[in-house]
Amino acid sequence: NRMELNILIICYLIGSITFIIGLKMLSHPESARKGNLIAAAGMAISILGTIFLYEEEGIKLGNYIWIFAALIIGTVLGTIAAKKVKMTAMPEMVSLFNGMGGACAALISIVEFDHLNHQIQLGGPVNSGTLLIIFAGLIIGTISFAGSMVAWAKLNGRIKDFAFNGQHIMNLVIFAVIICLSAYLIISGDPATGSLFYLVFVLSIIYGLFFVLPIGGADMPVVISLLNSFTGVAAAFGGFLYDNPVMLTGGILVGSAGTILTILMCKAMNRPLSNVLIGSFGGSSSGSVTKDQGAYKEISISDSAIVMSYAKKVMIVPGYGLAVAQAQHVCHELEKLLSDKGVEVNYAIHPVAGRMPGHMNVLLAEADVDYARLLEMEHANEEFPQTDVVLVLGANDVVNPAAKTDPGSPIYGMPVLDVELSKLVIINKRSMNPGYAGIENELFFQPKSSMLFGDAKSVLQKLVAEIKTL
Ligand code: NDP
Repeated sequence: NRMELNILIICYLIGSITFIIGLKMLSHPESARKGNLIAAAGMAISILGTIFLYEEEGIKLGNYIWIFAALIIGTVLGTIAAKKVKMTAMPEMVSLFNGMGGACAALISIVEFDHLNHQIQLGGPVNSGTLLIIFAGLIIGTISFAGSMVAWAKLNGRIKDFAFNGQHIMNLVIFAVIICLSAYLIISGDPATGSLFYLVFVLSIIYGLFFVLPIGGADMPVVISLLNSFTGVAAAFGGFLYDNPVMLTGGILVGSAGTILTILMCKAMNRPLSNVLIGSFGGSSSGSVTKDQGAYKEISISDSAIVMSYAKKVMIVPGYGLAVAQAQHVCHELEKLLSDKGVEVNYAIHPVAGRMPGHMNVLLAEADVDYARLLEMEHANEEFPQTDVVLVLGANDVVNPAAKTDPGSPIYGMPVLDVELSKLVIINKRSMNPGYAGIENELFFQPKSSMLFGDAKSVLQKLVAEIKTL
């Protein structure tokens, strides 16, 4: 009835507004958690509103047992996965969930195509506008699903990079076939050609797989963000199809946020998106010959403790290893200890340190590190010349000078932290093994650098104990 439909419209309005407010709040670590909850509440209101209030020609959705069984299973699985996931496995989970979103959008298109095709067979009109939306949702959603599954499997090491000669050309051909076939089907609107729809579906899966397979490890975050925006766009098409404002708003927000993040990450790595997608950068260290770098020095815990305690300025460079070691709390303890001794301690945050955008910010926020101490890359690079000691904690690629000096390096051109401008660099990691991009780091062999080997957590604990005795 009219009243219920009006309430439903208000539910959708609330949903749309909470998405926007929630997204805004996500942009600061202090409000992010709340923002997430607000958006989730809006989503819940919209979903429940649709289930109980939506009606078409006076008929409610029904199927309550099916719907709630699915909702409960999804909620339980999602909650367990989110609670159990390790911070370092977050990008994998994001990929997996994103893939599910893409799959949903594709399923909507499949169901609605069937629906429409059935009507056309019964002599109904061919609505090419609707067909266009259906195909767009199918293609983008399917590519996002297949691509995200590959990204997920690559991130957790189940599959390796895979590329062959002519792969980009094959991809282009497949894509062209998808577009031509869809255009033909939309224009002809002939129900007899319905089975070709599933050919478009299969080709989109193949395209999604081969689109992500060759992309090198260090570029995965950009691809995940791009796929994320695809899912958003596919969901927005669902919103068009159902004339549903919440789906439309949500889809557009995800689509645009994902696109902005993709652009920002490309900027952070100083490479155009086309290069990320075609360049196969950071793939298992293609052609990076191990040069004879000479010898490296080591530094003891007690010497490290002394130089840091008597320094004026110390800069901590956190990286992936700090997250693996879960050493953020003891890192914060070290920082407080040094600050109490009158040392100025800051953190230099590289935009792609760790394994997901904002990884270091989230990690350090968890340990209650004061946000004002986190310096963005440009700012940190201005500070290094005045810095006495840089303590690199489990970071590698983001401090690799080859990005500036070696045009043959796969990370050449990516802006990095200029730690070598400071007076002394102490590098903590467990071995001389390379980081994510799989390449050597000449920083470790420079005269100002000293290695402090060991797991970040145990090294930091020893450092803290040592500084306390000084
Ligand atoms: P890296 O992966 O370059 O290096 C991390 C280093 O940490 C390794 O060399 C490793 O050396 C060390 N390490 C591992 N475990 C420990 C431990 N327990 N204690 C101490 N050290 C440890 O990390 P960065 O943060 O410098 O760079 C991130 C890289 O990941 C970039 O190449 C980036 O492009 C890529 N990437 C970024 C994503 C993002 O969105 N931020 C997502 C996916 C990839 P050792 O084994 O010797 O201990």
